Amino acid sequence: MKRGRWILPGDSAARLIDGVGLAKLIRGEIAADVAVLRGSGVTPGLTVVLVGDDAASAVYVGAKEKASREAGMAGETIRLPSATTQAQLLALVEQLNADASVHGILVQMPLPSHIDPDTVIRHIDPAKDVDGFHPINVGKLLIGHTDGFAPCTPSGVQRMLTHYGVETRGADCVVIGRSTIVGKPMAALMVQAGAGADATVTICHSRTRNLGDHTRRADILIVAAGRPRMVTADMVKPGAVVIDVGMNRIPDASTKSGTRLVGDVDFEGVRQVASLITPVPGGVGPMTIAMLLRNTVRSAQRTLVA
Ligand code: NAD
Repeated sequence: MKRGRWILPGDSAARLIDGVGLAKLIRGEIAADVAVLRGSGVTPGLTVVLVGDDAASAVYVGAKEKASREAGMAGETIRLPSATTQAQLLALVEQLNADASVHGILVQMPLPSHIDPDTVIRHIDPAKDVDGFHPINVGKLLIGHTDGFAPCTPSGVQRMLTHYGVETRGADCVVIGRSTIVGKPMAALMVQAGAGADATVTICHSRTRNLGDHTRRADILIVAAGRPRMVTADMVKPGAVVIDVGMNRIPDASTKSGTRLVGDVDFEGVRQVASLITPVPGGVGPMTIAMLLRNTVRSAQRTLVA
């Protein structure tokens, strides 16, 4: 049986991947890059557009604003009422596309139902699409061109694997979930040729038969299904690396808010089998914002060499 490289004789539980610590490290690197850019007269700017008053979106947007400010970046959050028309939003996007001080544009999803998200994404200049959702960037990712932007959450997962020295070359990597923002780009990253990738990738989804037969083969199991604790210990190969992207709020009468955040992995059970595992919270979540800042800085750097 192939064992994960992190398991030591006598170890009973997996090592934890510290997403908070790694995100902090990356944000430090970003702050240094921002300082260099500012010295060249360019302050990276991220503009976040929030339409409507979705409470969860407001929290995410606030966190992005704070993180970019802490990294010394410029930028703002534009808050629009939920009655904003699609035409008004597209006009704003075009204005931001033309603004040289804006290096990254992020339109926070979900949008109100009268606005088509794909139309909005297609209007963002691909060179400023730091979310990596524009079809040009999706295509570049699939081809393996590195001059686009890869989506932030899967990029963060890949960076975690690299940072923790996980051998990805030739590894069986199983991704649960086929969404455009996590599952599919995650698989596209892992299947590329090169460092931190070169894996043999399987994508599982809601129509997959016998899910456990696939997951039990995985050296690296990445779960992004949005199903609280659906991956149990019996579905995991001993020594596997398990990355839990899921963020699910479940009722919990013992907490002040009456809810608790859990992942898609039964953490307590799976950590007895895995060699390396991400907690929720404190795993993948903090990496997403760090990679958003990374993409924005990259966009600003490209304006210097362009
Ligand atoms: P989504 O709902 O768009 O996609 C879920 C995917 O899981 C689908 O492709 C579906 O086919 C698959 N799926 C659902 N049930 C399944 C089952 N029983 N067996 C196999 N596959 C199944 O969700 P998403 O946007 O990809 O997000 C997934 C999870 O990741 C959510 O919990 C979300 O909150 C979380 N998330 C976290 C971050 C972060 O920064 N940590 C970022 C994005 C999403």
